[in-house]
Amino acid sequence: MSEVKVLLIEDDADDYLLTCDLLAQTTRGTYEVTWCADSESGLEALHSGDYDICLVDFRLGVMTGIELIEQAAQALRRTPTIILAGAHSTEIDLAAMEAGAADYLVKNQLTADSLERAIRYALQRRDLDIRLEHLAFHDPLTDLPNRMLFADRVAQALARRVRARKVVSVVFFDLDNFKDVNDTRGHAAGDRLLQQVARRISSILRSEDTLARLGGDEFAVCIESNAYDTSIAAAFVNRAQEALELAFDLDDGVSVDVRASFGIASSTFDDDVVPDELLRNADIAMYDAKRLGKNTWSSYQSEMHQALQRRIELEKDLQRALRSERLDVVYQPFLCLQTNRVVGFEALCRWNHPDLGPQSPEEFIAIAEDSGAIFELGRQVLVEATSQAMIWRDMFGFDGFMSVNVSPRQISHPGFHETLVQILESSGLPPAALVIEFTESVMTGDVNQVIRTLDKLAELGIGIALDDFGTGYSSLSNVHQLPITIIKVDRSFVARIDERKGRSMLETIATMARSLEVVTIAEGIETTAQRETLGSLGYHFGQGFLFDRARKASEVEERLFPDYTPVHSYDPKTTPSIEGRIEPFS
Ligand code: C2E
Ligand code: CA
Ligand code: CA
Repeated sequence: MSEVKVLLIEDDADDYLLTCDLLAQTTRGTYEVTWCADSESGLEALHSGDYDICLVDFRLGVMTGIELIEQAAQALRRTPTIILAGAHSTEIDLAAMEAGAADYLVKNQLTADSLERAIRYALQRRDLDIRLEHLAFHDPLTDLPNRMLFADRVAQALARRVRARKVVSVVFFDLDNFKDVNDTRGHAAGDRLLQQVARRISSILRSEDTLARLGGDEFAVCIESNAYDTSIAAAFVNRAQEALELAFDLDDGVSVDVRASFGIASSTFDDDVVPDELLRNADIAMYDAKRLGKNTWSSYQSEMHQALQRRIELEKDLQRALRSERLDVVYQPFLCLQTNRVVGFEALCRWNHPDLGPQSPEEFIAIAEDSGAIFELGRQVLVEATSQAMIWRDMFGFDGFMSVNVSPRQISHPGFHETLVQILESSGLPPAALVIEFTESVMTGDVNQVIRTLDKLAELGIGIALDDFGTGYSSLSNVHQLPITIIKVDRSFVARIDERKGRSMLETIATMARSLEVVTIAEGIETTAQRETLGSLGYHFGQGFLFDRARKASEVEERLFPDYTPVHSYDPKTTPSIEGRIEPFS
């Protein structure tokens, strides 16, 4: 035991000497005693100094030792107190305990051993109390303040802001796709990720800011600033985004990229916002940021509240629709730009809400992604599309491909390969007649898992299409890593085909695709002029309103299949680069 600092409040000099003498006799530790001869100086010393333990005489003249304890309650939170009484009294003993004294000792029964033992126990209990208190207010995984302590800090900041002429901001953030890390890499890896995130964010905080973990992958920061606007909070968000940029090493040999969505809510100097409201608003702003496309931030506006309510309602309705399989799949054809034949279809999901009518796929797919409903949605679309393709093969001899959109979360899920194989088997569709489309955003999750899955699918002969190509950030490098057989160039390039920049992008992509021996599909073809140019640039297939929009299966059958001639007459020699890559055409 290191040196123990003892504060002795005792108005009798003989008793002081006696106590010092006893402490000097103990063999288990060394004691530095500070003596105060009256309650006044004793209280002062308690408030100013940091003592490990306080010994208080019960009879102190103007007040009793117990009254002193009661007055110094705040200071004594960290300094346990032992009452020293002249004679034994059960009454005083109980009162001392009630007041929070660590012990009650009778002076004339004191020995060096018993005094030392009482001090040792009191200190041990204090350490335990400190640990328990820490546990109650901190998150055990990251050791950051927890929700309770955070709410308290926000409340304190709000209370002093009017006087201090400050603005209090709460920044709420969570990690995009943390669930996927947990699902695919296991909880231990998820925990390590949270710890590392906590460490990185802590390192960029100003000393006066509080970072807390609210639970799961949710964190919050309380920021006080002199500015009327959110510039300090926004500056924090920028630093945090930078801090997360470097990939995380989870000690299992696979690094992971993590991004976060941030929501900011601020008080003014004098509004009557309460802590809970500020937290809730920051949370709503964070949802708004996610809606904007994740890895971004948003600042709370009152209209967001309604938007969020709507989203929560939609999420519930979507779950219900999925349970009763009330989503529809429509089919939009791909045409060969040289022969004008239908070579395949893209399956697109539709949701006709019973009260609100048709919903935007972009919106409900995003909701499904966030809520995890995407797994079931994706499964239902795959089941529907593969069995539809099989029906068309049987009924019309259709030998084109069926292309299905698959979300990043679906692909990253370890069970995806197995699910897909099962669906294919029960539909009877040959793997080569199926294409899955995904966007480059799969590369922000567990890249190695995604690559493994795609390799297995490619081995089965399933076509792998990179959708919305050109809109992502690391396009070229991804194409090399993935077993891609088709590139679907984004419709924004087709829309700008008349501009010099748009056209040269399309040329570059076509050239690159040729050298990689992948099939090119241009989406969003709306005019014959676009179609002509794309054909002359060497694009293999096209899709767009010029040819047809997405339709129900029955409409497709009426419009396209009465005079359908199988596409195996398609001549691969005119586009040698795709020979053997997509089997339906070879
Ligand atoms: P996407 O994969 O890029 O799908 C193509 C979208 O472009 C479709 O919109 C289609 O109707 C639209 N489109 C086709 N031709 C033209 C054209 O000539 N001009 C214009 N302006 N648009 C055209 P849709 O059906 O609204 O789907 C939107 C997005 O929702 C899809 O974009 C896809 O990312 C997602 N999505 C749809 N169904 C599914 C699904 O089953 N699973 C997943 N994961 N995502 C889906
Ligand atoms: Ca698509
Ligand atoms: Ca697309």
